[in-house]
Amino acid sequence: MKKIRLFTPGPCSVPEEVLLEMARPFEHHRTDWFKGYMKHATEQLQVVMQTKNDVLIITGSGTAAGEAAIVGCNPPGSKLLTIEGGKFGQRWGEIAEQFGIDVHRHEIEWGTAIDPAWIENYLQQDPAITAVMLTHSETSTGTLCDLETIGRIVRKAGKLLLVDAITSAGALPLKPDDWGVDVVITGAQKSLMLPPGLGFVSVSARAWDIIENNRAQPAYYLNLSKARASGAKHDTPFTPAHLMVRGLCKALDMLVEEGMENVWKRVASMAAATRTAGAAIGLEVFSKRPSDSVTAFSCPPGIKVSDIRAQLKERFGIQSAGGQDHLKGKIFRIGHMGYMDTMDSLVAIGALEQVLYKLGHKFELGAGLTAAQKVFAERS
Ligand SMILES: *Cc1c(COP(=O)(O)O)cnc(C)c1O
Repeated sequence: MKKIRLFTPGPCSVPEEVLLEMARPFEHHRTDWFKGYMKHATEQLQVVMQTKNDVLIITGSGTAAGEAAIVGCNPPGSKLLTIEGGKFGQRWGEIAEQFGIDVHRHEIEWGTAIDPAWIENYLQQDPAITAVMLTHSETSTGTLCDLETIGRIVRKAGKLLLVDAITSAGALPLKPDDWGVDVVITGAQKSLMLPPGLGFVSVSARAWDIIENNRAQPAYYLNLSKARASGAKHDTPFTPAHLMVRGLCKALDMLVEEGMENVWKRVASMAAATRTAGAAIGLEVFSKRPSDSVTAFSCPPGIKVSDIRAQLKERFGIQSAGGQDHLKGKIFRIGHMGYMDTMDSLVAIGALEQVLYKLGHKFELGAGLTAAQKVFAERS
């Protein structure tokens, strides 16, 4: 017998109710039947993403939603600043370059978060900048930036702020309207408890002004103006992934019922327990400013990431993630997103102890689980 235990930071585990919802017989998409789901999903997305702005549902993964936002919000004559501290930060700079958008790509050391004061200074130095794009929770390094402070700075400077919240929306505290975030991008298969295939974008009135006047928008399919026009009628410009939208309604209902503050607390507890357990068994957290949605541990000397991950999978059915690019072989990552609770974290920690013990890492067996239990006991 082998249970599938998905601890990857996307895709994440999906509740059975959501899977079954998508398996039921369906109608055509140009119907009131589908419009009902679209309307409900859009309203619930506003609750989960904590915004009163329009939310659009894009067929495609999170990257599709990000690309739509980039090409819409950066008309000719604009200049974008991207902050790149990992794989996903880099992606947004690459997309901007590919579309010929004038972009200043600011790289920071992977595992660190941007200093908000750097952004403040840069915006003063380079007044041509019209928009800033960054990743709230950089999944590739398990790092969270101080979005609230950055939002205040960017809003004060009068620039547009686009945020990749793909592993923060629905998992971590996020208040885009209060913090001055114009565009929030997320996707289905991380915190929102769905399989991959949908992207979501919220758009502020300020951002709409720019998008609607962007006649040169080099996008036909990933065109936010078209999505907005159809969205106003609870419809989509092209054939939607309508079973995904139906599953989405179910998943969002579950999150809204739990309450976003409670969801954030649950995720924070899992992350705190995992980090504390790691410290108790001699594992170092890689990030200097850890995100609660995914924990990246540095691999202990003398042990291979590939062995840890293979044993987790073969012996316990646990799927984890390694590092990307230059972090390959250096870190491994365990997610705290999706259909997961504190008891699931104990499973991951227990399995990790078993695996590290077999691989010859020196620590007191059970110390991680004990430390994690204390964190949960103190927090509940
Ligand atoms: C997963 C992820 C993406 C990419 O999303 P896809 O759905 O794979 O296109 C972008 N940014 C972050 C922070 C992510 O975690």
